[in-house]
Amino acid sequence: MTARPAPDAGREASWPRHRMRREREIAIVRRVVGGWKRLGHRVAFVPTMGAIHEGHLGLVRRARASAERVVASIFVNPLQFGPQEDYKRYPRPRARDHALLAGAGVDLLWEPRAQDLYPPGECTRVRVTGLGDVLEGGSRPGHFEGVATVVLKLLHVVEPHLLWMGQKDAQQARLVEQMCRDLHLPVTVRRGATVREPGGLACSSRNLYLDLAQRAQAVGLSRGLASALRALRDGERSAARIIGVVRRVWREYPDLVPDYVSVVDAHTFQPVRRVQSRVLVAVAARVGKTRLIDNLEWGPP
Ligand code: AMP
Repeated sequence: MTARPAPDAGREASWPRHRMRREREIAIVRRVVGGWKRLGHRVAFVPTMGAIHEGHLGLVRRARASAERVVASIFVNPLQFGPQEDYKRYPRPRARDHALLAGAGVDLLWEPRAQDLYPPGECTRVRVTGLGDVLEGGSRPGHFEGVATVVLKLLHVVEPHLLWMGQKDAQQARLVEQMCRDLHLPVTVRRGATVREPGGLACSSRNLYLDLAQRAQAVGLSRGLASALRALRDGERSAARIIGVVRRVWREYPDLVPDYVSVVDAHTFQPVRRVQSRVLVAVAARVGKTRLIDNLEWGPP
């Protein structure tokens, strides 16, 4: 008897290593993931809003290395956008997103519909007090309530062992860690380092809004943080002077409109006067209509 070639033989070169499954239905996602778990597979989850870039793909690669199965989601969550924000024009390049996520080794991509996550009459909201009210929470009222609510909903469907979040959104990652702890969710939250473009600009879906001239201004965010890092390494411990260092760099970027520059405790997110514990230097600024954030974490673990 001649051995029959495996159905996928010879296809590897032209086809992603994994056939990514795409689903919309909550019940099917539950069933697929449940099946993997019954086989003893560990499941890692990477939630996104799409417009996939290297930052997302870095998380997927780390997720792959951490578990047998990787679930990603794409959902532009209306609840976390303010009324004047970019919900409607947020980029949604679906075919490109699918190809990138499949190529990075996602096993299951879940693209929920808004009406399934927020059916008529649903009225439950999650608020993480304190952590959700400062910095991004201060500038974007209601934003973190939207984030916490959707992440909890996503987690209840996927029920992953591991949840991968990006350091680029350090406050979001910290808030989700706190929520998982407070609600006794059986998930381990892991963070992936911020992935940057060659010039230092942190990868972000919103970078797609920037033209070339605006990009040249947007690098001011990471340049300011690089100067803050040098100051910290040189022994500077005054938060006010570190903030001053960032703001001085920003003067060289006239079209960068500051929102905040803050030095906060990396755990509580409360402002510090002196750098004594682990801190986050968090920045937010606008270039044209585009709001960008970045941060630098520094100090003992
Ligand atoms: P988003 O699609 O912007 O909601 O981001 C989805 C996830 O990717 C979040 O956990 C983000 O923190 C993470 N992420 C976004 N940009 C980056 C980046 N440049 N480096 C690492 N992680 C990122």
